[in-house]
Amino acid sequence: MSASSSSFVVALDVGGTSMKGGLVSESGAVLLSERRPTPVADGPEAVVGAIRDFIGHLAASGDGNPAGVGLAVPGLVSADTALYAANLGWSDVPAIDFTPLDVPIMLGHDVRTGGLAESVLGAGRGVSDFLFLPIGTGIAGAMILHGEPYGGASGWGGEIGHIPVFPDGEQCACGQFGCLETYASAASVGRRYSLRSGLEGIRAEQVVSSDDPVAIEVWDEAVEALSLALATYTLLLDPSMIVLGGGLAEAGPALFDPVRTRLVKRLAFRAAPPLHPAALGVDAGMLGAALLGWRAAGRPELGPGWVLDVRSQPLVS
Ligand SMILES: [Zn+2]
Repeated sequence: MSASSSSFVVALDVGGTSMKGGLVSESGAVLLSERRPTPVADGPEAVVGAIRDFIGHLAASGDGNPAGVGLAVPGLVSADTALYAANLGWSDVPAIDFTPLDVPIMLGHDVRTGGLAESVLGAGRGVSDFLFLPIGTGIAGAMILHGEPYGGASGWGGEIGHIPVFPDGEQCACGQFGCLETYASAASVGRRYSLRSGLEGIRAEQVVSSDDPVAIEVWDEAVEALSLALATYTLLLDPSMIVLGGGLAEAGPALFDPVRTRLVKRLAFRAAPPLHPAALGVDAGMLGAALLGWRAAGRPELGPGWVLDVRSQPLVS
């Protein structure tokens, strides 16, 4: 640890099951990286308390005071308030409640913060407009427009997982019918295969690579749903590329090849954007939070020059 006073920020990415935290220097060095469970079952106040403790612990592990704090959380978020998160149960938590430190803090939406990291440091480096689509237990999206994640008028932007792809389709957990996520998330692919085959506990990765006719049918519907949603996105926003991440992207060509083929076929008058794998894996949220921390500290220029020592890891769903 060679961080001197205020030459690092505290970065924390809060998920529904675990939190990934770290200290990141102004040159992009990850000085420390730790994971803790998110105590969701203990209620929203316990989660806020656990975040405070974790931020305090990380800051105390550095050499001197941090310059700022970046915090990525799920749900509806503004830069200074965690407005609402269904899975964590909180509403309207001001940013200062999350930190025991007297340094600036900036909040970000979890997926958009990961998208920011992919934009500045990862697969979207040098690309101004793309879609970051992590496919895991659910399907989320970060629309990167002019190099920045776009959250829309009220912060609900990018919910591509809940685009209706099959109008008369199955009901989604969100209440709508025929959502992309209901057909193509890793959890849905496993669930739909189990329902039809009667076999329990089958993971999406097994369905994707199986030649069992039921598996082929379930996977074909997932690919169909993805190609419909991606064609819609492409026609609306004309992205330079589509970056697929999350656990299902680890399926590699078994995912990329059929989705690419179907997307190309669906678009008549324009070329399909290339599909690329995400580059930062499970570190995307934490690295994006580090960028937010440096923005909070008044150093928004940091990031593009970083040469990262990041092992690309699968995003465990
Ligand atoms: Zn839905």
